[in-house]
Amino acid sequence: MTLRAFRGELLSVARDPRDHPDAVRHEADGLLVVEDGIVVARGPYADLADAHDGIAVEPLPGLIVPGFIDAHVHYPQMDCIASHGAQLLDWLDRHIFPAEQAFADRAHAENVASAFLDELLRNGTTSALVFPTVHAHSVDALFDAALERQMRIVSGKVLMDLGPEGLADTPERARTESEALIRRWQGRGRLGYAVTPRFALTSSDAQLDVAGALLAAHPDALLHTHLAENPRECAAVAERFPDALDYLDVYDRFGLVGPRSVFAHGVHLPDRACGRLAQSGAGIAICPSSNLFLGSGFFDFGQADRHRLRLGLGTDIGAGTNFSMLHTAGMAYQAALARGDALDPFRALFLATAGSAALLHIADRVGSLEPGQEADFVLLDAASTPLLARRTAGASLAERLFALQILGDDRAIFRTYVLGDCAWRRDDVHAPPAAKEYAR
Ligand SMILES: [Zn+2]
Repeated sequence: MTLRAFRGELLSVARDPRDHPDAVRHEADGLLVVEDGIVVARGPYADLADAHDGIAVEPLPGLIVPGFIDAHVHYPQMDCIASHGAQLLDWLDRHIFPAEQAFADRAHAENVASAFLDELLRNGTTSALVFPTVHAHSVDALFDAALERQMRIVSGKVLMDLGPEGLADTPERARTESEALIRRWQGRGRLGYAVTPRFALTSSDAQLDVAGALLAAHPDALLHTHLAENPRECAAVAERFPDALDYLDVYDRFGLVGPRSVFAHGVHLPDRACGRLAQSGAGIAICPSSNLFLGSGFFDFGQADRHRLRLGLGTDIGAGTNFSMLHTAGMAYQAALARGDALDPFRALFLATAGSAALLHIADRVGSLEPGQEADFVLLDAASTPLLARRTAGASLAERLFALQILGDDRAIFRTYVLGDCAWRRDDVHAPPAAKEYAR
């Protein structure tokens, strides 16, 4: 048994502060006690110190928040980030499908999977729901690399029998390969499986049927796909499925809409679809930097909140433009404001941590650093650039958090901890300022 204690400024938001204003938990001088990777106590240092007398206490600089949780990201696309000149459907054909074809080579998949997970840790992201490619070994490569790093990763082979040459599977292969992968991986380490049809246009009706059957047979698996991202995509879906009530109804007809479904984007949804999402308990991974990059539009927070949708946040690399969930939170603020809604910085932190955890059905394990949870956390440095240091000097907690979301990125991650162990550290020696330097 290893027992450790960390002392520093702690901040977490376990529930949506829009509905639960008391969900913001902040200890300016806090203590986090970790036993074998699990948080066993947390509170003000002054309250807990006596009870944990005798445990070595490690002081941690900066603002300690839960490890970020990326609710939608594509690992095979990391090397296509910043590909110029096209909206979704053309961008897929021109840039993405050729890159994913290279994953027929397992060694290539292993190489990219390792680089991808290291990049997540460098950005303070400790859990993610990840698209691999259609190749079963692309899942093996990712899960092997995640096991090595002890990260909490959910993924599953992409189903796309209507995909281009080299990336098209069949309904039968989708079924047998997915079943084999679920047997091999579900429940190992901190891994989880997601049935992952790419989107409505790349699967035949027969394959969407297979996806529904897989979900029904494996109640622990998630459903992970794209929904109503880009106007041209929505038009093409409406044309192929003229009888469907809307885009979401296409998935519904194949049994793909339920409490374990995670739909990326959801930018263009009629109220009927939002009502159905809320009723089913399905969630949306909002991907603001990707939505801007591909000219897809701005997510409608007002509509989502009217329907009380379950929401999380995703980078959607490689259409997304930054691995940083801080930056993504800042983009979400700007997207919300474009439609007249000002996203609160504490709510943005919730979306990037416990909100995404709830979508992935891992909120009992990670996302808010509560006792009983796994000790995945990040040390944020609000003085990581000269401008951030100036902007946050003497700032309140809310101002500091917002400045980190608008101005912060990988540079603001001082260290990343996985299960109480330091998994990544910035290689300079300048520690972030202590909480008392912001006291106000
Ligand atoms: Zn995506």
